[in-house]
Amino acid sequence: MEELNAIGVILRAFDSFRVKSCIDFVPRISEEYYISVQKLNGCFSDIGKSEANEQVLSIGKHCDFVHIVEHEFLHALGFFHEQSRYDRDDYVTIVTENIQEDYKDNFEVLSRENSSTQGTPYDYWSVMHYSKYEFSIGNGSTIITKDPKFQNVIGQTLGMSPLDALELNLFYKCNSTIAFKMYCGFTNGTMCEMNRCSQSGNGWKIVTQVHGGPSSDHTNLPSGNNNNSQETGYFMHASTASGLEGDSARLETQRMDLRRECNAQCLQFYYYHSGNKSDELNIWIREFQDGQDPTGTLRLMGHITGPPTSHWKLQHVSLNATKQFQVVFEARKGAENSTGGFSVDDISLSETECPHVTLQIDEFEKLFNSTSDIKTIIYSPRQYSKEGYAYRAAASINKTFVGLYVQLVSGDSDNELEWPCLQRQITLQMLDQTPNFQLQMSKQRSFTTSQNQATSNGTVYWTNPRETGEQIVDENEGLIYVGPLVGLHKFTSLEEMQLRDFLKGGSAIFTFNFQDLTPLANGSTLPCPQLKPVNATQLAKHLDESPCPSWTLSTTVPPQTTVKSLAPEMAASPALTFLLVLKLLEL
Ligand SMILES: [Zn+2]
Repeated sequence: MEELNAIGVILRAFDSFRVKSCIDFVPRISEEYYISVQKLNGCFSDIGKSEANEQVLSIGKHCDFVHIVEHEFLHALGFFHEQSRYDRDDYVTIVTENIQEDYKDNFEVLSRENSSTQGTPYDYWSVMHYSKYEFSIGNGSTIITKDPKFQNVIGQTLGMSPLDALELNLFYKCNSTIAFKMYCGFTNGTMCEMNRCSQSGNGWKIVTQVHGGPSSDHTNLPSGNNNNSQETGYFMHASTASGLEGDSARLETQRMDLRRECNAQCLQFYYYHSGNKSDELNIWIREFQDGQDPTGTLRLMGHITGPPTSHWKLQHVSLNATKQFQVVFEARKGAENSTGGFSVDDISLSETECPHVTLQIDEFEKLFNSTSDIKTIIYSPRQYSKEGYAYRAAASINKTFVGLYVQLVSGDSDNELEWPCLQRQITLQMLDQTPNFQLQMSKQRSFTTSQNQATSNGTVYWTNPRETGEQIVDENEGLIYVGPLVGLHKFTSLEEMQLRDFLKGGSAIFTFNFQDLTPLANGSTLPCPQLKPVNATQLAKHLDESPCPSWTLSTTVPPQTTVKSLAPEMAASPALTFLLVLKLLEL
């Protein structure tokens, strides 16, 4: 199922263009100029628009990686390799004698006029940069960076860098993204035009630390990439230390409009819970009929309660707004005494699907160092895919490498499901915790379940675990059956984790997707993601109030009809659309 996996990866790469840049891709109908993606011998593309009636871009065998797909599409969009820039000799040394004879031309330098730099600085992180061993005769590096700390950065296999995206937007003279909606890190004490209000005196406050924790914001937590942050960081905090049970404090984003067909959005933010286990952080969306609708309609989308946390925790909340909406963070005081409250920081919102499983491992390095030759394996709780397959995600740590895996486990509807469980794309990801979602360069790898993935005695990995799995006792002391752990033993290393914000405040975050690609195999498109309803006992909650009044209201404007203009980064401006057909040829 290589073709299927490649199509799934290409779709993921398109979403990354939609989040990071102003470029969009749509299916070709009858246009003269379009890209035809084919499975030929290798990964390649022409540079820029070259041919009418089908311009071929090849995603061949072993090209089914997001960073490779992005690289080839950037060629098609007009990009040359980064180390071909006219000024590259100021940044890298090309070791000609180490280059294979037939490939020496690939290292030529472009003239200033032909370089596609758009005035951006030389970027060692570019997805268009060759690696240190590219086309080497096997006798050492072909490229040496003048600044040695980038020697292991060039040729990175993560994806488009922030400068690649900036260059793309400058080249196409657009800056509005299809899928990215907002980011707020409360930098310099600003609130990104969010509004707040509360019933009692305990509203959301912008702070730099809280007595009961956290002692600093999330944005400026140290990472492997940056250990000496001097900046004072801000975050939002709602105390539950005083007041009455049920007291409610709200923090509300600006209204946002939707741009994509599927009504699927992902809210991600970090929270710190230093209150009582009975306190609650509720995530609502308020949808408006139109710009004139003053009150809107609230729906509960997420709910955090229970024991306090000792670290900032990443939370994803899947949303399905269908019209103009805002997100409401509601902190609600519980029945028992509290000495703290809820804090939030680094809020991002995108029109993309949320990851299906998140595994946050705090004090990760300690785990790394304490683990000798023995592997430590950390499992997620049991998950259910949309169709009802039960699985767990897992991370293994030994002294050198981190492995990421998925395994099928027995579930509630195994008898009604089709076995083996094939054509599912598993995506393993290590999250780059760079605070601004749009600037992240996470590492991801995907594979698709198939009949060929089997043990030496022929048992397919994806058969019903009740029939071929092993019986174990899970974290809830229940007996379950588990299939084999399938994934990558050497997904990453501690060395690689220190290149970017993969370890932040000592925490590593891995995400997993389990996606049914069967519709693609049958020639149709993937359906829109469906949300599981929020835990039914929570639906009885009510929050009847109108939106918090906007802090920029002037007395001459009646509050009920105020429609605030969007911040510049959210302003609507036409995004560019590229046409393509996905057609992977049978070999
Ligand atoms: Zn290339």
